[in-house]
Amino acid sequence: MSKLQTISDQTPAPQAHKDDSQLRQKRMIAEHFGRLAKSPQTGERNAYTFVPGNLTELLRSFDLLPVLPEINALQSAMRGKSREYIALAEKAGHSEDVCTYVKCDLGMMKSGNIGPTGEHLPDPDLLLLSYTGCFTFLKWFEILREEYDCPIAMLHVPYQGDGEITDAMRDYVVDQLKTKVIPKLEQVSGKKYDEDRLSEMLARSAQAEEDLVWVLESAKHRPSPIDAYFGGVYYIGPIFTAFRGTEDAVLYYRALRSEVQDRIDRGLGPVTPDGDLGEERFRIVVEGPPNWTDFREFWKMFADEGAVVVASTYTKVGGVYDNGFRHDPARPLESLAEYCMGCYTNLNLPSRVQMLADYIRDYDADGLLINSIKSCNSFSAGQLMILREVEQRTGRPGGFIESDLVDPRYFSAANIKNRLESYFQMIQQKRVGGAA
Ligand code: SF4
Repeated sequence: MSKLQTISDQTPAPQAHKDDSQLRQKRMIAEHFGRLAKSPQTGERNAYTFVPGNLTELLRSFDLLPVLPEINALQSAMRGKSREYIALAEKAGHSEDVCTYVKCDLGMMKSGNIGPTGEHLPDPDLLLLSYTGCFTFLKWFEILREEYDCPIAMLHVPYQGDGEITDAMRDYVVDQLKTKVIPKLEQVSGKKYDEDRLSEMLARSAQAEEDLVWVLESAKHRPSPIDAYFGGVYYIGPIFTAFRGTEDAVLYYRALRSEVQDRIDRGLGPVTPDGDLGEERFRIVVEGPPNWTDFREFWKMFADEGAVVVASTYTKVGGVYDNGFRHDPARPLESLAEYCMGCYTNLNLPSRVQMLADYIRDYDADGLLINSIKSCNSFSAGQLMILREVEQRTGRPGGFIESDLVDPRYFSAANIKNRLESYFQMIQQKRVGGAA
């Protein structure tokens, strides 16, 4: 899923005036893609890998630069490129039902592999599949393997079918890290595994994670100083992508935290595409990824109604940290294994229901809204059951809308706006009814 976004020149900034954290993130991204573009000359090597269950610190401990295909796909959508990329992939025989991240990525590759900053992305030196819950990832890399002549490594992450991580599951992942993944990273990078270096990075990860959780939990305030879905995708950018474990990420989250603290001190709500939100009328929990082709318009539909997303599951696809998990420098490989197994898409449905019901209670939300994504089975399976269960447990009304990640053919603005307005009216009526 992911599911997430990095801020570049093309993405709509959450506010006209750029905060230090935004400028910092923009600089980090520009530098990262600049290094990738120059890598054929500098000799730096990379690994293509996915967001959920990513092994960023481990890759960086070998000086490998991560490339995340889902991020490139969503960035292509925000730059208005996904329609043509998807059409190219469908012309090449990929069905309409295939996840649109995959088709967008393939179309981008066939169009010269130009990344989010407009620079050429190098071919992969390694395809590293950390398999957490979504079968599509496996098929996606099978396709890339046919295109690129490079080594591959796979980490099989067991699904949390019973809602827990057992010792045997942890050992199984650690064993693969030691015997399959690390040897491949040594081969591709030409460097030896350095556990001390990895631990230093994990210590920085934990610091950044602490601040990220603080920022996400700031939405418990009234008014919430952040939007934990539309704004949240900016906040998770560095930690879910190429920067976890770096000093840059630590500084980014420190700056972000102090900016959010400032908003709390001044009693301000979140920033929206049109500036500061006025009155906070509705507090919503959202399940499912956002739509990227019309991200700004989608966000505005909420902001125009005074609706703030106070918690979302999408901001947990690259790691669930608000349950207390932090990367642990004292147990580097065990901690990476637990991280992979704890990602949202690797959780079973009862755990997801519980998480959402807890969010409604802890963030004092008016209800749960599901954005069901046409092409993402990993998120969409079981969502109607989730909706009913959460409604039943919390007594708060649920709403359901449908769109897609990066296929503009499946974003019907009038339809979505209509449903959202009805949903907010329903919440309003329940309030009036409850007060009567
Ligand atoms: S199906 Fe969903 S989780 Fe899987 S790759 Fe596509 S967007 Fe990501």
